[in-house]
Amino acid sequence: MTKCNTGKRLYTSEALAEDALIGAHINFDYRTGSGPVAIYKCDECGNYHLTSHGEMNKRLALQLQSGFIQKQKQAARWQDKLK
Ligand SMILES: [Zn+2]
Repeated sequence: MTKCNTGKRLYTSEALAEDALIGAHINFDYRTGSGPVAIYKCDECGNYHLTSHGEMNKRLALQLQSGFIQKQKQAARWQDKLK
């Protein structure tokens, strides 16, 4: 199945969904309390989706705290400038 009734983008594994969740925070400037914060397994399609509700994903929380996301954001900006 490549589409889900929820209309959300789906990821076939937890790891892929987590990477996408972290990638989203690198690529977009979410204000605190907005944007996707977690992943969940979908009852409709059996794959994983991102959600802006619920408790923050542990890996995302760690990477926000450690400054990893901020660093990646800066790196991405520099890459844009060099294009
Ligand atoms: Zn689904």
